[in-house]
Amino acid sequence: MFEIALPLEVRVIIEALQKADFEAFVVGGCVRDSLLKEQFDEFSPLYPKDWDIATSAKPESIRRVLEPLKIQVIPTGIKHGTISALIGKKIYEITTYRIDGEYIKHRRPKEVFFVSNLKDDLYRRDFTINAMAYHPDIGIFDPFDGKNDLKNKIIKAVGNPNERFKEDALRILRALRFASRFGFEIDTLTKKAIWSHKKLLKFISKERIREEIKGILCGKWAGDVLREYIEIIGFAWSGENNIFERIIHDKEKILQAIAFCPQEFIPRIAILIYESQITLQRSDEILAQLYFDKKTQKTIFELIRHIPIEFVEEKSWIKKYLNILGQQRFKVLLGIKSAQYKSEGKPQGIIKIKKIGIMLEEIIQKNEPFSLKDLAINGYHLKEIGVPRKKIGIMLEAMLEAIIDEKISNRQDELKKFAKGLLGMDRQYG
Ligand code: ATP
Ligand code: MG
Repeated sequence: MFEIALPLEVRVIIEALQKADFEAFVVGGCVRDSLLKEQFDEFSPLYPKDWDIATSAKPESIRRVLEPLKIQVIPTGIKHGTISALIGKKIYEITTYRIDGEYIKHRRPKEVFFVSNLKDDLYRRDFTINAMAYHPDIGIFDPFDGKNDLKNKIIKAVGNPNERFKEDALRILRALRFASRFGFEIDTLTKKAIWSHKKLLKFISKERIREEIKGILCGKWAGDVLREYIEIIGFAWSGENNIFERIIHDKEKILQAIAFCPQEFIPRIAILIYESQITLQRSDEILAQLYFDKKTQKTIFELIRHIPIEFVEEKSWIKKYLNILGQQRFKVLLGIKSAQYKSEGKPQGIIKIKKIGIMLEEIIQKNEPFSLKDLAINGYHLKEIGVPRKKIGIMLEAMLEAIIDEKISNRQDELKKFAKGLLGMDRQYG
């Protein structure tokens, strides 16, 4: 029998429920991820991030069983049968076996019904690989052959895929997210149903869409998923058919660039939009459509804006852009540029970016100044030596530039002298 090493807390919960004559299994993602680790080397670092438990006990009974064990229970979703157990700092979701009633607006069931049968509960789940359960004494319970699909790297809807996507269109993007994370193929009928029901994505909130798109872009196999489903992603994003039209026509290089980017959504979204040759104004508009927080939106926008600049391996150039972008954004930009050079097969470019990266580290390590706040002088000092208030800003900028160009050093006495010099010139000519 295949054994999953369950965390102690999960065992405690399962045993407690069982002692009170209820069934309890771990279900869904944690079973899938444990099997993946077991079957494929490439997934061995994977550790199930959360352990969900399904039980025949109703929420009130779950609470009655756990409270005497001094486990804190939080009624997170009583209506849907979910109780959260807080042990240490971790939360375990325990959900009563249930089936879903009629779905509204292609997203969520109007009501749910508690049932006593685990198989019925698994039947409401999205994909066969997510519809397996495990009990330490019984082993894997797998009524829809999820284990086999997992072995064959297939994502397949449980039951009739057309019905499943009509019930909840978010599952379309979930399928793409799992494909991108695991490098799986989507089963033929499931794939057909995805394309048939793509329009239903209009019913899904943009916040949910944003989170799924982030997940899709961060997958190791994002390039493969984008190659096949970029139109679905574009449609989910904007409700239009062709926002990534350019990519549809000129895919390979671009998808490679995305795949070479670090597995983070910010650089990948930036390069996706940039390579789609969308104008800057339109880029801002489509970013706003996904309701990113203002800071993230600005970061992505600034990255898109700076991808086409010429990169120069000179400290003064690096400092100038460090000042404009800030350290974090600048580093992300280097990652994007390097990915772009890799996808274009330009080793010289890759070396250049590497060198810029090394110089950047040196600047940081040595605390070399690159922004106004790094200067050994500030507005008060300038006021003291008689610089008029309205000239202070310009003068600080001029000093920073002179320091970056290594014309003067960042010492207060020298900067004051420099300022007095500028002031004298100003009085003479200004
Ligand atoms: P992840 O590792 O991303 O958390 P997961 O499979 O655990 O993957 P969750 O969103 O945490 O995904 O959901 C837990 C389980 O609930 C899934 O494995 C699946 O069985 C079920 N599930 C989640 N969302 C849906 C959905 N929209 N439709 C049907 N079943 C779903
Ligand atoms: Mg999960």
